[in-house]
Amino acid sequence: MTNLAPSKLAMVPFVSVDNMMKIVHSVGPAAMIRGIADYIEADFKRWPEFDKTPRVAAHSEEGVIELMPTSDGETYGFKYVNGHPANMARGFQTVTAFGLLARVDNGYPVLLSEMTILTALRTAATSAVAAKHLAPKGAKTMAMIGNGAQCEFQALAFQEVIGIKTVRLYDIDPAATAKAARNLAETGLEVIACKTAEDAVAGADIITTCTADKQYATILTDNMVGSGQHINAIGGDCPGKTELHRDILLRSDIFVEYPPQTRIEGEIQQLDEDHPVTELWEVMTGRAQGRTSDRQITLFDSVGFATEDFSALRYVRDQLERTGAYVDLDMLADPDDPRDLFGMVQRAR
Ligand code: NAD
Repeated sequence: MTNLAPSKLAMVPFVSVDNMMKIVHSVGPAAMIRGIADYIEADFKRWPEFDKTPRVAAHSEEGVIELMPTSDGETYGFKYVNGHPANMARGFQTVTAFGLLARVDNGYPVLLSEMTILTALRTAATSAVAAKHLAPKGAKTMAMIGNGAQCEFQALAFQEVIGIKTVRLYDIDPAATAKAARNLAETGLEVIACKTAEDAVAGADIITTCTADKQYATILTDNMVGSGQHINAIGGDCPGKTELHRDILLRSDIFVEYPPQTRIEGEIQQLDEDHPVTELWEVMTGRAQGRTSDRQITLFDSVGFATEDFSALRYVRDQLERTGAYVDLDMLADPDDPRDLFGMVQRAR
């Protein structure tokens, strides 16, 4: 629990966007992704302890608004997140988020945080943790299709955790690729801007798809994927929103976060309900195998699960004391006499 002085017990530490950026820079972006990756893996390894449910989604024609709750019995967490693929063209973010941790024993929140930046960090960290178990050994080159908000975080995570040296960028909008190439220029990665998706995947050990389009899209066709590759499929994360041709799924060994949610939202919504998939936590705990051969195509069908946000929030909470990068929010009415809520309001007159 956050170490707060007794007089401040009813105050809730709040991490704004500005303070999140301070935390990122005080740790370093790559080191922070690695740190979050460690928390995510630690929490996947105690998977049975978590309360799990598919996220609660409110769909509209333009996008989706979702709540993602979980609890480990001691701490409760949730994230509010939206996904609006048309937003970018209107000058808004496709994905924005904020989240909260609370004590289970008395229900009091202990952290409120921005999570737009944190979601990009945790999504990249989760992808890298999955790839640690699934990507071919010694993978050096990643194709990155979709060069929007998540792109550079993904590239950094794979450099830091997997050790890739080269990223091959492609986006239908060349301005997005130019932006990503500029932002990655000082990372030490070799950055190659490609003219087509086919060009981007040529010679890649890992293919990341991270596009946003509310339809059954075909970012990768079957002929673009060769034996031994690992696919990190990020962008298909909603009913009716996928990125891969179904034939790729039929040739791949598929790994997922939480099957009841992924069957609704992931690439596997294109398959029969009983199509076999392996859960990531089982791979991480050694109950199931990850990659077993050089020729196997592995697919991480990522949709993003509540425990990953819980882990990321835990990580942020553990940075507060050292960085001081938060303000106390007076968001809990907490009268000295718990029954005298009305009296407290009256006295404020
Ligand atoms: P964004 O809108 O900032 O970027 C998306 C990019 O994809 C844009 O640059 C766009 O031009 C490009 N694009 C669209 N169609 C394309 C195509 N056919 N080929 C190549 N490029 C194409 O969005 P973002 O924040 O980077 O998010 C990307 C996707 O990842 C979204 O669908 C989002 O919902 C999803 N996402 C998933 C997770 C997860 O945990 N799995 C987490 C965050 C975001």
